[in-house]
Amino acid sequence: MHLKSLKRGFSVYPIIVPTRYSLKSFNFYLVEDGNQLSLIDAGIDTDECWEYFINALSEIGYTLDDLSQIILTHSHEDHIGLVNRILSIREIPIYAHSKSIHRLKRDQEFHDLRINFYKQLYAEMGCGDSGTRQIENLEKEFQERENYTVHADIFPLSETDRISGLQVIETPGHAPDHLVFYHAERKWLFGGDHLIGHISSNAIVEPDQEGKRLFTLVEYKHSLETCLELDVETVFSGHGRQIINHKDLITMRINKIHQKSDQILDLINSGKSTVDQLARTFYKDKYQSEFSLVMSEIIGHVDLLEVSNKIKKKLKDGVWQYTQT
Ligand SMILES: [Zn+2]
Repeated sequence: MHLKSLKRGFSVYPIIVPTRYSLKSFNFYLVEDGNQLSLIDAGIDTDECWEYFINALSEIGYTLDDLSQIILTHSHEDHIGLVNRILSIREIPIYAHSKSIHRLKRDQEFHDLRINFYKQLYAEMGCGDSGTRQIENLEKEFQERENYTVHADIFPLSETDRISGLQVIETPGHAPDHLVFYHAERKWLFGGDHLIGHISSNAIVEPDQEGKRLFTLVEYKHSLETCLELDVETVFSGHGRQIINHKDLITMRINKIHQKSDQILDLINSGKSTVDQLARTFYKDKYQSEFSLVMSEIIGHVDLLEVSNKIKKKLKDGVWQYTQT
């Protein structure tokens, strides 16, 4: 008898593809719910990753023909890598946050809106040439990664949905379209990049659908607090090892966010008033080498300080100046 008809209940089969980079591994998951086999996330677009995926399927007695659907935690490239390879062989539905759709479709109009958003953002944060270079990188990246465009139908998921025995929970912050999937009975959480055990996730600055800036670190912290409430024994993370002490980890991450905010507040109090000055002072060499992440971090922290009324901002000659309240 084929395993597919055994109705084994809910099971998870992690696919862990190691990398020498700080992420340690790209993780994605085959999950079985009754006789439905789903893939949560889809790794990176390499032959090695494809081999890991096909081997994982065969180890549990399946082939690609048995796969029912792909469910995505978010639309970042290291989570959708194999989507098009799978779809080229077998047309199956893709489920993702509604906000993932124009990102996965690489919609030109949204791309233009995003480029204009970052142009204005970096100018208003006082970044000068570094901002211009980053815009050029973004444009180049968009042209070069056409192969990531998902042409299949994508079905939207939102907060109240359930899919394959899993509760869908919106966790914006790392990405505006980030979802985690919770199995209450097993106390399992498929966490994507919302929670990573060995490194902190970046709350990457992004516009909403209309081009308005999201307060991503504020959202990220709120999403961490949401997950803190869940009864979880294991978090199946998008990178690195599984997490077994999610409450301790979240508490530590929130404390670290507060500590960093305090350090940035000290810098503002000492006279550094623009995001660009703060980023250069706080991150030193990383300012150039990891420009977009560094900007996201500093912007996130000034947002947090602003919403907690510790600082205020004023536009002067087109650049935001932050000062203590
Ligand atoms: Zn990500």
